[in-house]
Amino acid sequence: MEKKTVVMSRIPQEPDRDIRRAAELLKACKHGVALTGAGISTPSGIPDFRSSGSGLWKRYDPFEVASLSAFRYHPERFFDWMRTLAQVVVQAEPNPAHYALAKLEAAGIIQVIITQNIDGLHQRAGSRCVLEVHGTFNTLTCIGCYRQFDANNFLQPYLAYGIIPRCPGCNQILKPDVILFEEQLPLQTWLKAHEACQNSDLILVAGSSLEVMPVAGLPMQALQNGAKLIIVNHMTTYLDIRADVLFHQDVADILPRISTTVIGG
Ligand SMILES: [Zn+2]
Repeated sequence: MEKKTVVMSRIPQEPDRDIRRAAELLKACKHGVALTGAGISTPSGIPDFRSSGSGLWKRYDPFEVASLSAFRYHPERFFDWMRTLAQVVVQAEPNPAHYALAKLEAAGIIQVIITQNIDGLHQRAGSRCVLEVHGTFNTLTCIGCYRQFDANNFLQPYLAYGIIPRCPGCNQILKPDVILFEEQLPLQTWLKAHEACQNSDLILVAGSSLEVMPVAGLPMQALQNGAKLIIVNHMTTYLDIRADVLFHQDVADILPRISTTVIGG
């Protein structure tokens, strides 16, 4: 009996009040920005490679194979590692958290979604203004002639047989347009994300522990201008202390409840 009391005390006492408070802030904002990370896609079955306990990443340390220098010297290792992730991503479906953000965008509440994810699930859920600051899995660029290609043309042989995609023009390796460790963020996308945050009067952080710079610093741009902050994330973040409303709960549970409160079912 005593143990039960301890567990219960960790559950927020008035979650409904927090949902209502978050909904009020969203209704009042003029330029809402959502910032999403790996945690918004874990309910879709895509594991966060930063969190331990995920068997998906046992063979390679992602920090070693997924750096730009590692890609240059051992692209085959990178593609071998990436294949497991790619197989999961192509089969994944958007979850209720993605759909909730798409509804908030369609209702004009959220103007921009900045995402650290490369899985394209926001777009598949119907979101339109998505800034993929860590790049995308949907296109590939030749390391020889820099031509860009649609990933779909190369996906099947790679997923089925591990065949490394090569440029039809110069036969050099095609690198997925995901941002590797040591690599610069895509400049235009980054500038748009920066501008969106500077103009924002509300930031909704969903499924990001705000650990990866420089993206983790984006909410500060908005907070310095007096923006409101809502955080929905299982883990604590460095900005929890600045949050107007804070949920250490499941994004796929909380975001639909917030969006329903803001705009109805
Ligand atoms: Zn080429």
